[in-house]
Amino acid sequence: MKSRENFRRKKNLTIEDYLKGILNSDITILSRAITLVESNLPEHNKLAQELLTKIIPYSGNSIRVGITGSPGVGKSTFIEQLGLYLCEKGHKVAVLAVDPSSPISRGSILGDKTRMERLANHPNAFIRPSPSGGALGGVARKTRESILLCESAGFDVVFVETVGVGQSEILVRSMVDFFLLLILPGGGDELQGFKKGSVELADAIVINKADGDNLNLAKITMREYQQAIHYLNNATEGWETKILLASALKNIGVKEVWEIIQEFKGKTFESGVFQVRRREQTLEWFYSLIKETLLNSFFQNPKVVKILPELEEKIFAGRLTPTLAVEQLMGEVKNENFIGNK
Ligand code: GDP
Repeated sequence: MKSRENFRRKKNLTIEDYLKGILNSDITILSRAITLVESNLPEHNKLAQELLTKIIPYSGNSIRVGITGSPGVGKSTFIEQLGLYLCEKGHKVAVLAVDPSSPISRGSILGDKTRMERLANHPNAFIRPSPSGGALGGVARKTRESILLCESAGFDVVFVETVGVGQSEILVRSMVDFFLLLILPGGGDELQGFKKGSVELADAIVINKADGDNLNLAKITMREYQQAIHYLNNATEGWETKILLASALKNIGVKEVWEIIQEFKGKTFESGVFQVRRREQTLEWFYSLIKETLLNSFFQNPKVVKILPELEEKIFAGRLTPTLAVEQLMGEVKNENFIGNK
């Protein structure tokens, strides 16, 4: 036991240490592997990629569930109840988060340590706050890689939580199989205008806090959604978006959401939509990494760094249109090699 403790505390773990620890479901090692994936240091990055290459064959065996909703709608209460229910059934539940506030403020909407305390203490659960700092694209990569690590450590249900703000919802949708939107009773606003987009990403919509004085209003909201859903696009081919009532606080309607997720998995697996989506998500990830890498090396290229301020000045002075400025810039750098130019 003592040597095992020493091994987990070792300052520098080798790839084999990480691999062995993760495949043995060692939470301390899993945490350290996620820290490695989240690091921005090039040497950590190299090690992380080597590790990911080794664990990929062990990953993928989970249902990935995205959960979104406005702050205060009850996401953590809901995830905790559902998570505890699943842990008691023998599942292993990981909870990751994509916090859209982190790139800007480095603060966090989701990262509060007191959240989901009961679930956090369950031996079958693993909760990890959102990676902080960097652009949202970077946070997404880290979360995607963390999903693979959790799966390899035997977690068969992975929740990815986010807050209902445009870009982060779309990102989380692009890394999960099933997407759940939590709304409040009376939340018909989501059916209008730009918020409609969130509704169309969801495979199920839960009207939470359907308890006490709110129950009637929740039922009215449910009917509104049931009617509206026929005029909206489904998020998943061959699956009609489900609308349910729940009270996370009273643990009502939570199990039902799991039943729906099971039904979804069964149906989409049989039709092949599940597998096709996973393949497409991996490709999408690949292409977004290409774009990110090219953009970074472009903007870090010394020639570009030198020319950009001059062009900006000409644009401000009204001597050049932005379109012509781009043409000029491209002309100047067309023989530059942007690959490996970091
Ligand atoms: P989050 O910000 O979306 O994660 O929301 P929380 O889970 O932290 O919940 C915000 C507040 O709403 C807390 O005070 C919860 O106790 C309360 N809450 C969550 N779910 C319910 C529910 O189903 N019914 C009622 N009445 N309150 C709830």
